[in-house]
Amino acid sequence: MQSAAGMLHLLDLTREEFQAWLAQRGHPGYRAGQVWQWIFQRRAVGFEQMTDLPQALRAELAGQFLLDTTRVAAHRTADDGTEKLLLQLADGEQVECVLLRDDRGHHAVCISSQVGCAMGCVFCASGLNGVVRNLTTAEIVAQMLQLGRLLPPENRISHVVMMGMGEPLANLPHVLPALEMASRPDGLGISARRITISTVGLPAAIRRLAEQGCPYHLAVSLHAPNDELRNQLVPSNRKVGIGAILAAADEYFRLTGRRLMFEYVLLGGVNDQPEHARQLIQLLRNRSALLNLIPYNPVKGLPYETPSSRATARFVEILTEGGVNVKIRYRKGSRIDAACGQLRRLVAAAEGPVAPAVGSGPA
Ligand code: SAH
Repeated sequence: MQSAAGMLHLLDLTREEFQAWLAQRGHPGYRAGQVWQWIFQRRAVGFEQMTDLPQALRAELAGQFLLDTTRVAAHRTADDGTEKLLLQLADGEQVECVLLRDDRGHHAVCISSQVGCAMGCVFCASGLNGVVRNLTTAEIVAQMLQLGRLLPPENRISHVVMMGMGEPLANLPHVLPALEMASRPDGLGISARRITISTVGLPAAIRRLAEQGCPYHLAVSLHAPNDELRNQLVPSNRKVGIGAILAAADEYFRLTGRRLMFEYVLLGGVNDQPEHARQLIQLLRNRSALLNLIPYNPVKGLPYETPSSRATARFVEILTEGGVNVKIRYRKGSRIDAACGQLRRLVAAAEGPVAPAVGSGPA
């Protein structure tokens, strides 16, 4: 994004574009590699830190490009080591991102793709006020850089999941270059196989993603085993339908070879009944897929409930007997409101109204 002063953010340029910019001004191409190394490996936040560049070039870069435009507006840490940042963007909007640690030494980050969300899933905090805008490439990358700085120098981010605020497939022109910076060896060096894109299910964009040839994991948020129920829970389904989403997901599997993941938020008494499990078996039995069950993380003001552990266990049992690969994913850091848009709302509520929302999210 261009600032009021008309300055470009350096990370809104690909490395090749940056190299061309340097060449035009008579600088050797390897300077791009040095700058990228400072940003992605050495965690620099300003050009003045890049001490192996000539002073004149550092000044020229600082006069031309923005680098560190996000500010930590809130930082919370949970007992399990999960850390959540609320980042303030240059225009005052805010997005959430999370660092999750596990006992295998993995450091996963969960990042956002939009300010708000237009999909309107009825149980999710992110879309309650609709979508405000897409994030830029630099803003998506900034979340990973900010979270990476929370780790000691010897640790690196190992996994990326696009499961924060927003619908990543509605913002592919910025999501794809950001993930390329995450996965390139001269970027953050996180293998594409350790990057997951979670989508509400937009068939045309799923196909476009498949054709990119990057073997990211695809996670489809299903949440219901039939269109009648899914239309209620996930309004964007009304124009699409489960059949078209599964067809696009199958195509993704065919082209990339990545096993599909389906997400299913369990809402007590709504989509957690034995009949729903049996319908899910029909949908998933013959697919190379993993079903991730996510017990609902309550959102203040919404009428949904986390199912009892008995209902959850019964649901899992029916699916397992029916031959579906199923896992329960307990959300980490729920006590620090580490789920989807909850921290942003909390802080906004405490500080007064946020910018007026545009878009179609339910009130
Ligand atoms: N737009 C993308 C990314 C959204 S967040 C998508 O729809 O997949 C990632 C997952 O968290 C989605 O499956 C979403 O439905 C789920 N989710 C949202 N709110 C939740 C809540 N309160 N409790 C549990 N899971 C939630």
